[in-house]
Amino acid sequence: MTAGTRSCAQCEEYTALREKAKEDGDYDKATTYEILRRRHPSHEMPSRTARWGLPA
Ligand SMILES: [Zn+2]
Repeated sequence: MTAGTRSCAQCEEYTALREKAKEDGDYDKATTYEILRRRHPSHEMPSRTARWGLPA
């Protein structure tokens, strides 16, 4: 695992699930996984993510 890669294990899992759902013709599920992947915050702004874990 290298820091700064575009995807993380969780996102890759969501992508794989999304692709599988598409193959199954379940576009509703595919959309759900796409949303989950987009929401995944761990590889956006590290400082912002760290701030979420800190008490104010
Ligand atoms: Zn991710």
